[in-house]
Amino acid sequence: MMTIDKFNFAGKKAIVRVDFNVPLDENGKITDDTRIRGALPTLKKILTDGGALIIMSHMGKPKGKVNPKFSLGQIVDAVSAALGTPVQYAPDCAKAQDAAAALKPGEVLMLENLRFYPEEEGKPVGIEKDDPNYDAAKKEMKARQKEFAKTLASYADCYVMDAFGTAHRKHASTAVIADSFDADHKMLGYLMEKEVKAVDNILKDIKRPFTAIMGGSKVSTKIGIIENLMDKVDNLILCGGMTFTFAKAQGGKVGNSICEEDKLDLALDIIAKAKAKGVNLVLGTDCIAADAFSNDAHTQVCSVNDIPDGWEGLDAGPASREAFKAAIVGAKTILWNGPAGVFEFDNFTGGSKAIAEAIAEATKNGAFSLIGGGDSVACINKFGMADQVSYISTGGGALLEAIEGKVLPGVAAICGE
Ligand code: AMP
Repeated sequence: MMTIDKFNFAGKKAIVRVDFNVPLDENGKITDDTRIRGALPTLKKILTDGGALIIMSHMGKPKGKVNPKFSLGQIVDAVSAALGTPVQYAPDCAKAQDAAAALKPGEVLMLENLRFYPEEEGKPVGIEKDDPNYDAAKKEMKARQKEFAKTLASYADCYVMDAFGTAHRKHASTAVIADSFDADHKMLGYLMEKEVKAVDNILKDIKRPFTAIMGGSKVSTKIGIIENLMDKVDNLILCGGMTFTFAKAQGGKVGNSICEEDKLDLALDIIAKAKAKGVNLVLGTDCIAADAFSNDAHTQVCSVNDIPDGWEGLDAGPASREAFKAAIVGAKTILWNGPAGVFEFDNFTGGSKAIAEAIAEATKNGAFSLIGGGDSVACINKFGMADQVSYISTGGGALLEAIEGKVLPGVAAICGE
């Protein structure tokens, strides 16, 4: 398999799929440039070698239509500044042949948002799954996707996949395009290599004890990974909104707390499975309950099983925090995905902060800690603790799928299944 370190880009044109889906404010100004910084090592290596660079990305969800709100034109100056060299811009990603052909070594061209074309995602538009013509429409769109990928591939001599955040999608630019290059002319970028290695650290050669902390709002969106982790971890902390589905399933009274009524059996099943597998399942026992879903609500500490009517649990309580900490500080491998409370409200960050502090302490004592998924990364950044953990993943869904043990299409396209 070709690796980016082995490849000499001198005199070559490289098309690189990055994830520049950065958050913008109402004036189109970037509010967090982590993703741009994440791609720089790959982009700079290509330019330093003497290659020409074609950058492609998506931004937002324009659903196959041109939408200026999601134009990558808005970030051209920021990318130029980050790279320290002017970046040319192709306002139509599927009509950039001439601009690509004219590129000289050391020059950079950025393509407009790939998702302005439905072919990028390859999903038929304007037709529902239950329509009798859906399968035919899907087939037709897949054929168009192949052609679109071939067009993108025609701009360059080699392809670099460095968009971990979208590596779990089999899109034209993340996977299908790789079919147009032989094994010596396609490779993962440095960011992808780092992310894949971080996941390997969690899945292979696990240093024990291994503690996983899963939080967030719902158990339903995390069930795949929870079940998968059950075979690997020693301690499994389930926190955040899903606490109340577990509490209710065991007969608790959860007031207005977020609760998935149709997942009560699933919660009991998880409890039983943890027991059978000898996993130490740590669930919150108390919470900070609020009389409104608001930062300024009145609060009280109560048992997760006895929340008064009209009140809802918005954060982990003091006893829960202690239990979480106890399962984290001695761990040697740690995975954290999802906050322990509504951390967007400053008054309900305590549970997540306690988790972050325990992870930082364990990391100082030699643990490998991986934080992933938008919200837990936002937490760590909010607490200013990003440098106190081992690795912060740029992937949300991609990270979870990788940890579930699925082969990501973006990785498979380069490395095989
Ligand atoms: P997810 O997207 O499933 O990872 O969930 C992240 C969201 O869960 C964040 O926006 C949190 O505000 C929310 N969350 C965490 N704890 C709670 C809770 N106790 N009640 C309601 N929402 C919560």
